[in-house]
Amino acid sequence: MLAYLHIPFCDSKCHYCAFNSYDNKSPLKKAYMSAINDQLRFELEHRVIDTQSLTSLFIGGGTPSCIDAAWYEPFFALIAPYLSPNAEITTEANPHSATPSWLQTMRTLGVNRVSFGVQSFNAQKLAFLGRNHTPSTALRAVENAFKVGIENLSVDLMYATAHDTKALLDEDLRIACALPINHISAYALTLEENTPFFGRNDTLNPSEELARTFAASIVEAGFPQYEISNFGRYQSRHNTGYWLHENYMGIGAGAVGFFNDRRFYPPNQIETYFQNPLAKRTEILSTEELHVEKIFLGLRSNVGILTSILSPRERENAAILLQEKKLVTIGDRLFNLDYFLSDEIALFLTR
Ligand code: SF4
Repeated sequence: MLAYLHIPFCDSKCHYCAFNSYDNKSPLKKAYMSAINDQLRFELEHRVIDTQSLTSLFIGGGTPSCIDAAWYEPFFALIAPYLSPNAEITTEANPHSATPSWLQTMRTLGVNRVSFGVQSFNAQKLAFLGRNHTPSTALRAVENAFKVGIENLSVDLMYATAHDTKALLDEDLRIACALPINHISAYALTLEENTPFFGRNDTLNPSEELARTFAASIVEAGFPQYEISNFGRYQSRHNTGYWLHENYMGIGAGAVGFFNDRRFYPPNQIETYFQNPLAKRTEILSTEELHVEKIFLGLRSNVGILTSILSPRERENAAILLQEKKLVTIGDRLFNLDYFLSDEIALFLTR
């Protein structure tokens, strides 16, 4: 089982961001860090979670590094007995707030992986995206994480922005590769409703060729691709758990949870979450919905899909895809050979 903690605060809002995060609710931080403990206590008891059974904890946001590291201590004290001895404990962090002392305290609490929201090392591109750090701040933050002894470090890089050229992306990758990291997440910019970028036609570079070249360069640089957006010599246990459809506990405002055939949705709004941190909407997934999800997740990643779960019709479609060399069979699983086409392949397979 996996655990996810959501921190819905940011110091400023990036121009493209539709995540559940707020840059104007800092006075609520302290009470929020208390409410998550109420929810965690309930979840641990109510779901009858065995001690040492959580293989991963992921603190995401938002910006986890905009919360004082000491304020995580009660949360870690509660969850520690339930973490397996080798649990992957990841926190996301933004370069300007992940100070050496923040990183040091998080490491002391048990964090062994940090995923930095870098996006680029180009000052103009960072300003265009509305990021509040500079290239040198990003370099220092990653180096500081390494210095305090956090083993697994990742940086997010963004592509498909109007600023991107092959030269710029090559340079972003060159700088990233000189850092002590073992993982890169590369995301395409997308235009989301209710963001300053939405509806603008001067923000994207939708070149598929550029995207494919960038992905190929990351692999060539020594970071094998294991999902459409994820590359690494180290492959995140948490990510892989999601794609394997493992159960996960969601803690915090808007932190979705999943248990067997149910998905749980707490309210996104911090103020509503405060009223009752235990309240959530439940969605019951049908066998068919779970089956389709398994196929989509498996084809987006190196998890693949068990051939035995396919219906006779899907097996016929898989035979066509195998013949066209879009899929390959290894052992009892089918694997996708082109992650950029994963959704199209999944649609064909399940039609
Ligand atoms: S730091 Fe991340 S979560 Fe916060 S506004 Fe920027 S993209 Fe969104």
